[in-house]
Amino acid sequence: MNALRYPRRPTRQIMLGKVPVGGDAPITVQSMTITKTADVEGTLQQIYALAAAGCDIVRCTCNEIEAAEGLAQIVPRSPIPIVADIHHQYKMALAAMEAGVHGLRLNPGNIRRPEHIKAVASEARDRRIPIRIGVNGGSLDPELYDKYGGKVTPEAMVESAQREIAYFQEVDFDLIKISVKASNVPLMVEAYRQLSEVTDHPLHVGVTEAGPPPAGLVKATAGISTLLLEGIGDTIRYSLTADPVEEARAGRQLLEALGLRERKNVDLIACPSCGRAEIDVIDVAKRAMDAFGDRKIPLQVAVMGCVVNGPGEAREADLGIAAGNKRGHLFVKGRNVAVVPESEMVEALVEWAEFIHEHGTEAAMARADVEKAEREAAKDRSALLDAKGDDANDSTSKIVEIRRRSGD
Ligand code: SF4
Repeated sequence: MNALRYPRRPTRQIMLGKVPVGGDAPITVQSMTITKTADVEGTLQQIYALAAAGCDIVRCTCNEIEAAEGLAQIVPRSPIPIVADIHHQYKMALAAMEAGVHGLRLNPGNIRRPEHIKAVASEARDRRIPIRIGVNGGSLDPELYDKYGGKVTPEAMVESAQREIAYFQEVDFDLIKISVKASNVPLMVEAYRQLSEVTDHPLHVGVTEAGPPPAGLVKATAGISTLLLEGIGDTIRYSLTADPVEEARAGRQLLEALGLRERKNVDLIACPSCGRAEIDVIDVAKRAMDAFGDRKIPLQVAVMGCVVNGPGEAREADLGIAAGNKRGHLFVKGRNVAVVPESEMVEALVEWAEFIHEHGTEAAMARADVEKAEREAAKDRSALLDAKGDDANDSTSKIVEIRRRSGD
């Protein structure tokens, strides 16, 4: 099930290497390396880390001839398609194509001479290399900026993209995808909405310069998911001021959370903790996240602070653990399966997750002593209820005290 309110807007499909973008292709995740592209080994290392975190397409800057030479060595060794990012120098686009890149990104705001744009598009046409028209609110063509009253407006951004499309059409080039990014979320959302009305080229969606997490994550998620839920967007990028691996993870997680991509890694859920918690839920959840890392175990795993409510609240999870009386109670699909010392909770979660992933839920239930595990859980649950009662936050006595002090 996915959360789309509107059907996905039909778009044409282009290929970046072996990865399709647009049409009925799965929505893809993009990121960008932050190494010097001339540093071939460093850049490849980052590309491998990005691919492991769920990145489908990666962009590298091509700002100097050494970068283009680096790309010639990076492209054949990369596990995912490479897009060269070009600003100002159209000759770098020609060099990147010579290096064998799978796609280009051009910024119409800073490569403005029609003969340069057409020279790049003609070469791309002959080589069948797609180009992204990457309009950016912060670097809009000054002429359009003036035309729209000295402001960056959705209309100005859409017109910038349309002008570029017209140049491409003149040389019969249509392997195009488009982005109209801005750091202002309502502005970019409206620009993409307007753009999607006037073109059926695939769209690359993102909030540019979203900034460091968590605020950057919130901004990017607000903009990207609003559009995705309206059926707009064929490929996405989180532009965070952070390790690009975080961008790739966030992109992947957003698509999984919206039901737009199949789950690839662990989906770790955890209770927010409360007065009933028997452990430091934040710490245990973080340690569990670190332990699972980018491992390809597509299960939902729960970390719950108490055995009183945890197994029930997380009964939909494939696997979970809840704390009680210095012990960890493991449960599978809401059924208790084992008890481990509190200090081994994370290790036990990982071991059971691996087992379920490899052998399935039924095999996991078969190896468990469910009766014993449920007996032990019931024992700890009633011990906690005896100790803390139903009112774990002890609000009743606090209210009595508040009333006494206020002389009620
Ligand atoms: S009741 Fe238990 S499971 Fe629910 S939030 Fe509190 S500690 Fe977590």
